[in-house]
Amino acid sequence: MVTVGVLALQGGAREHLALIESLGGKAIAVKKQSDLGDIDALIIPGGESTTISKLLTVFELKKPVGDFIDAGNPVLATCAGLILLATEVDGEPGYFQKLPIKVKRNAYGAQLASAEAIVDYQQGSENAAFIRAPKILDSGDSEVVGKVSDEVVAIRNGNIMAASYHPELTNSTMLHRKLLEMAASN
Ligand code: GLN
Repeated sequence: MVTVGVLALQGGAREHLALIESLGGKAIAVKKQSDLGDIDALIIPGGESTTISKLLTVFELKKPVGDFIDAGNPVLATCAGLILLATEVDGEPGYFQKLPIKVKRNAYGAQLASAEAIVDYQQGSENAAFIRAPKILDSGDSEVVGKVSDEVVAIRNGNIMAASYHPELTNSTMLHRKLLEMAASN
């Protein structure tokens, strides 16, 4: 069985854990370095990216998590998680710099500031929650995975999938199913 870790320093881990379990995976909360040894894939959830980055540094998790990503393990980053992985955030270097995209924090106006929207994937559409979502200004050479109208909101780049929204809050399973698939074939 595939085991998925959800980084649980701050932000919304609980719904991600439940969603993975509902899809037949095993899910554990990741709070310390040794937890990374027990997992096949990692979810970096939404929350507040500055707070999460500070906690990652304080708990000495920046390098172990970075190494886990560099080793090619499947990763799903949502909202604040996407901000943490991006190479460029608001014109400055991002925290992990593992995902070659440019993002702007809290960049949506009233339309997608805190609302549900239909995300279109190649395989169908699902409702998802946008909460002070980051905007992907430039997705570089990433594969576009999900869109809201013409706006790119989910991407994949190698072993990393990232979405600017919260799929777990609306029980949207597309990205979690894909993550389990990637982990099973890794
Ligand atoms: N705006 C938040 C940040 O900058 C991200 C919002 C979220 O994860 N829901 O970290």
